[in-house]
Amino acid sequence: METNNQNEHVHLLIIGSGPAGYTAAIYASRANLKPVLYQGIQPGGQLTITTEVENYPGYPEGIQGPEMMVDFEKQATRMGADIRYGMATSVDLSKQPYTVVIDEEKTLTADAIIIATGASAKWLNLPSEQRLNGSGVSACAVCDGFFFRGKEVAIVGAGDTAAEEALYLSKLCSNVHMLVRKHEMRASKVMQDRVLKTSNIIVYWNSETEEVLGEKKVEAVRVRNNQTNTTQDIPVSAFFVAIGHQPNSGIFEGQLDMDKEGYIITTPGSSKTNVEGVFACGDVQDKIYRQAVTAAGSGCMAALDAERYLSAKFH
Ligand SMILES: Cc1cc2nc3c(=O)[nH]c(=O)nc-3n(C[C@H](O)[C@H](O)[C@H](O)COP(=O)(O)OP(=O)(O)OC[C@H]3O[C@@H](n4cnc5c(N)ncnc54)[C@H](O)[C@@H]3O)c2cc1C
Repeated sequence: METNNQNEHVHLLIIGSGPAGYTAAIYASRANLKPVLYQGIQPGGQLTITTEVENYPGYPEGIQGPEMMVDFEKQATRMGADIRYGMATSVDLSKQPYTVVIDEEKTLTADAIIIATGASAKWLNLPSEQRLNGSGVSACAVCDGFFFRGKEVAIVGAGDTAAEEALYLSKLCSNVHMLVRKHEMRASKVMQDRVLKTSNIIVYWNSETEEVLGEKKVEAVRVRNNQTNTTQDIPVSAFFVAIGHQPNSGIFEGQLDMDKEGYIITTPGSSKTNVEGVFACGDVQDKIYRQAVTAAGSGCMAALDAERYLSAKFH
């Protein structure tokens, strides 16, 4: 139970409450590590902003994202995890035990830490995009493409991920209207070639999204050509945003090894970071798969790595 002690010590601290954090909490509780988990500002993580999840095993009829995350939390609580509302606002990983400040006021020390802070999709920040989010607007083709089988869809983005997602959608949807802001793509040559050779991907160069149209669900996208300054409405049932993700790793900057985009680097095949006793799992260290099931799997890895580390150090 949480105490009023401003300098509480915990054996294992888990930061983040998405599929990775809760799975780590389930495993760590069952290993008797008495984990304390801080949920952050989005209890349940990214799946709380989506509707139907159909690809997480164990739910044959599919499930609403927020409901699924309540199940994760209940399971972690039942196993004994101490789940708390609060945000890690700064950390000191330079000496053991590690120090973590919660909400800029409470200081904790921890023998080991599991970081499961996820990543956030970048959006265009159009009001219509936000209004129709979950009603045809999505930042994840692998998650939501299936719902638009045989339909016309649009995707905005020009990097490798956008190219990959456009190719993924081209196998499900009748046509993929790909909106590229410049006269060229950032994607690698090989990905561009694949996109340009796919007959049902139609690329619109120099094209900016002005508005996503539709009352209750996406019906079209309004696109402006920034060379000719003309607009056109393209009828589509879904609008995919593939302009990148931002890993939530800011508070660890300068203390943990990261790649240039800010993803925490882990030793391949493990959840170990460059700091002993600090583990990372889920989307904050994975820019390739970014799925609930892979996040959960890596949360399991982090708990097992933490258990081995703690039992070797404090046996
Ligand atoms: C719209 C949408 C639909 C999706 N649909 C699907 C789908 O159908 N199927 C699927 O498999 N995947 C889907 N995904 C992807 C899936 O949601 C992610 O891969 C998964 O949630 C990643 O889990 P995670 O635990 O790594 O992080 P997240 O779910 O991102 O959770 C991160 C957690 O960390 C917390 N946090 C962040 N910073 C701090 C801090 N400083 N202190 C404390 N806590 C912190 C947040 O509050 C949050 O609880 C979807 C994603 C989106 C955006």
